[in-house]
Amino acid sequence: MTNPLTFEDETAARFARRPWPTTSIRPGVEVSFEFFPPATQAGEANLAACAAQLEPLGPKFVSVTYGAGGTTQDRTQVAIRSLEATTTMAVAGHLTCVGATQQQVGEVIDDYIAAGVRHIVALRGDAPEGQTGGSVAGGYRDAADLVAGIRRHVAGTSAEGMEISVGAYPEVHPKAASAQADLDSLKAKLDAGADRAITQFFFDTDAFLRFLDRARSAGITAPIVPGIMPVTNFANTCRFSERCGTTIPSWMHELFADLDDAPEVQQMIAATVAAEQCRQLAEHGVNQFHFYTMNKPEITAATCRILGVTPASVRSRQAQAS
Ligand code: FAD
Repeated sequence: MTNPLTFEDETAARFARRPWPTTSIRPGVEVSFEFFPPATQAGEANLAACAAQLEPLGPKFVSVTYGAGGTTQDRTQVAIRSLEATTTMAVAGHLTCVGATQQQVGEVIDDYIAAGVRHIVALRGDAPEGQTGGSVAGGYRDAADLVAGIRRHVAGTSAEGMEISVGAYPEVHPKAASAQADLDSLKAKLDAGADRAITQFFFDTDAFLRFLDRARSAGITAPIVPGIMPVTNFANTCRFSERCGTTIPSWMHELFADLDDAPEVQQMIAATVAAEQCRQLAEHGVNQFHFYTMNKPEITAATCRILGVTPASVRSRQAQAS
């Protein structure tokens, strides 16, 4: 007769048999969430509800996007002020420089500072359709020039410690002259004073890992945070990906095929895809994730849970820190 299993043995055996999502990956995972500024009152209420659902997950920061050329400037300010007033989360404001003078950009920075913002996601932005370049006399050349400008602008003020994040492109920016030129551009932004890079969303996890290797080999030591896009609508994601140069792997087309009229099923598959992507990244030592929430919190919240980021784990982390 064999010895009966102890309770501990049984529990260990049960956990070993469990599929991955029921165990947390690793301690110390940090998350951040990106929102877009709503255009309607209903959208504002939705953003407030979205923020309330995600706040207990203790994000390092949340950010609000900004329409290039200042097209959503007012809405971005409203959303930032509302998040600052109703939550305790650190709020980052995105800022683009295309089509604006340095003085106009400086005014937006001052508005951000007045609203309590101490973190800017600094981007060049894209010129409107049909226009090329987008540089104006007295404007910033590119995002590296903008980063240097922000550092000069806040120097010697109470906002001197302003955090700056910049964009990075694991699959190469569609307008970059070459992959090397794109990497040089990222290095220039970090050398100009940015603290971290956040990537364009991607679904080819290996492309991100190769990019990370290339960046580290090029001497880039700053954090490079993967941008995770939960697929809230596959057709829209495909359109958006084409514009950004993000590859949609063929297995995703197969997974989402013929589901245009089944949004709930799409959501379930999307949650699995995001969780699996984060699992692969975490297995390679990635422990910071930036979620493009599209102001829809559900898949992001589910993926965070699977990463071990839950209200309970956040409370225990906060208790240990205090
Ligand atoms: P840069 O660092 O200046 O350039 C990136 C690369 O593009 C370089 O290789 C550069 O050489 C190459 N390039 C060459 N020619 C051009 C050209 N004509 N235009 C652009 N790039 C060129 N956009 C918004 O409008 N609002 C946002 O809130 C916003 N948030 C973003 C957040 C993240 C995390 C990321 C990754 C992107 C975001 N974008 C946003 C999109 C971004 O503005 C575009 O990708 C833009 O084309 C490049 O911005 P950049 O700051 O990376 O530019």
